[in-house]
Amino acid sequence: MDRTELLGLSLQETEEVVNGLGLPRFRARQVYHWLYKHQVHSFYQMGNLPKELRYFLDQKASITVPRVVKSRVSQDGTRKFLLELSDRKRIETVAIPQTRTGGTKYTICVSSQVGCPVGCTFCATGQSGFERDLTAGEITGQVVAVERELKQREKSVSGSRLLANVVFMGMGEPLLNLDEVLKAISIINDEQGIGIGQRHITISTAGFIPGIKALAETGLQVTLAVSLHATTNEVRDRIIPMNRRYRLEGLLDSISYYIEKTGRRVTFEYLLLEGVNSSVSDAYRLSRMVKPLLANVNLIPYNPTEGSQYRRPEQDTITRFMACLAGEGVNVTVREEMGADIKAACGQLKAATNRRSKQEIRSLKSK
Ligand code: SF4
Repeated sequence: MDRTELLGLSLQETEEVVNGLGLPRFRARQVYHWLYKHQVHSFYQMGNLPKELRYFLDQKASITVPRVVKSRVSQDGTRKFLLELSDRKRIETVAIPQTRTGGTKYTICVSSQVGCPVGCTFCATGQSGFERDLTAGEITGQVVAVERELKQREKSVSGSRLLANVVFMGMGEPLLNLDEVLKAISIINDEQGIGIGQRHITISTAGFIPGIKALAETGLQVTLAVSLHATTNEVRDRIIPMNRRYRLEGLLDSISYYIEKTGRRVTFEYLLLEGVNSSVSDAYRLSRMVKPLLANVNLIPYNPTEGSQYRRPEQDTITRFMACLAGEGVNVTVREEMGADIKAACGQLKAATNRRSKQEIRSLKSK
């Protein structure tokens, strides 16, 4: 008989499964607590369950946390993890440290799909194609796996929280997998689960308009980040192919709708590419777009990847672009990509690993 997978179920669903096995509901709470507060991967490690019960649960249910295949740490402390799922597909998750009084806390950047169908021309994931959506269990599993690794490295007390924020900015377009993303968010947000407040959860989109509207309808107080990256349809068509279907004008309308429905400020991400979208005219067009929306702008100077057709602008260009926006009263920051030395931009570690595997296979074949 197939075992029931518990990772990715809400507390209520876990209670139903456990109750269906003839056990009292409080056992479900214990399991849920071990899973999300202590990142335990096996029933046999759940110390307050009787031994026979651990064996029984192991026969009837499973907890499939993604396996850490590889991890790298950057000079700035960013840690990048390559994780393997039960069907051996691989995804990436990144942990970005922030030092605060009381110790280091991490922002976890999770993937929502294996690969990505959007195909942005500057993105390693987009260039390697789409394989499948992740389940809610595979999304929450990234948080569980990475928090466990971080605790082991930091030798943290097992119950103390290391996570401050979760951002859906890894591989994939989260709004194209909204049902599973929302299920995962309910567990990430649940006080009994991972326990991260909605305002500390960010969903990033390349501009999938139906998804923005659907997210607005949920009433969630999460933060929406929109990867704008261009101020004209002509340029945006070139760098984010989804724009050919979901045009800039409609995108801005959907963002107004989102703001009206949720009362939340939106952040625009703007990747600066030399000779593509970083002129003074672009800066003024961008300010005209974002000012009525009272949105924040994050400028991200591009870090070229191997074989990329794009280049990073000179520092003068970056400074001038920022000054134009600030001069127009836009709330703007320049964000350097964290972990650039370890290929922390989405899809780069997987792409590099695949490249290396192919090279290794080629060299084996030639022997
Ligand atoms: S940037 Fe994001 S949306 Fe675009 S291809 Fe990469 S993962 Fe997909």
